[in-house]
Amino acid sequence: MKIIKAVKEMGEISGDLRSKGEKIGFVPTMGYLHEGHLSLVGAAKKESSTVVMSIYVNPTQFGHGEDFDRYPRDLSHDKEMAQERGVNFIFAPTDREMYSEEHGTFVEVEKVAHILEGEFRPGHFRGVATVVAKLLNIVRPDIAVFGQKDAQQAFIVKKMALELNFATKILVSPIVRERDGLALSSRNVYLSPLQRKEATVLYRSLKLAEAMVADGEKDLARIHEMMVKMINAESEGRIDYIAFVNPDTFETVKEIRSIKEILALLAVRFGQTRLIDNLSLKVKNKK
Ligand code: AMP
Repeated sequence: MKIIKAVKEMGEISGDLRSKGEKIGFVPTMGYLHEGHLSLVGAAKKESSTVVMSIYVNPTQFGHGEDFDRYPRDLSHDKEMAQERGVNFIFAPTDREMYSEEHGTFVEVEKVAHILEGEFRPGHFRGVATVVAKLLNIVRPDIAVFGQKDAQQAFIVKKMALELNFATKILVSPIVRERDGLALSSRNVYLSPLQRKEATVLYRSLKLAEAMVADGEKDLARIHEMMVKMINAESEGRIDYIAFVNPDTFETVKEIRSIKEILALLAVRFGQTRLIDNLSLKVKNKK
């Protein structure tokens, strides 16, 4: 496994790989790797012959007062884990490599980038879309794998790749969870032992919504209310949002009867730590 720091070298290496007929699979991350990230590597390996992983904590996707400075970083541990799982190249650029002092070009995805995560983290998806566009142009992979954990991000990246004619095929890989249901996240290390226990209520509340929908509940406001009640009763978590969207459009679902699948999404803050999760709810509508 080789570590590459320079944009130019990364571009040259991927050019060489392509000319040799390799199929390049790409897994963009911010590092502090866990099994969620590594599952994306597994998915990439199935669809490609060489895997490039980027490890880059992208400053432009963090807002003022967010956790950019304290975001967990451990490149030497990441290298070990990535190598063990068969990553061929790690691209770990510096900020200066990625953004010149006069950098002034950004990718703006309209509408969907300004709701939910975009509403609570203004500018976040502008930073994400920009860095993903840059990374796709540097690595020029055949496929790139993103996690369903960040469902809105995956949707936005797919939309951007389609609308800006990127040649890369975007794949989305399922959420990896701890045994107690908590979705793996680099940010879980911020949680105190009590918050870590309480954070399992996120998945439980999503499973409650799933069970209610399966039982034929048609009133999304009622499901929303029950989820809020559960989260408030079982944790100190403060809810940013609980939302139900059409997974194909990310538009809010108003009428459950007109849809087969709903994506339930939530963001909850435990102290300073903001966690997100989501679950697809299958709707059985009688004809
Ligand atoms: P991050 O390092 O948090 O930016 O995540 C890098 C990629 O890994 C993103 O595409 C995430 O959606 C994905 N990812 C993070 N956590 C998980 C998880 N628990 N399961 C599946 N994918 C994940």
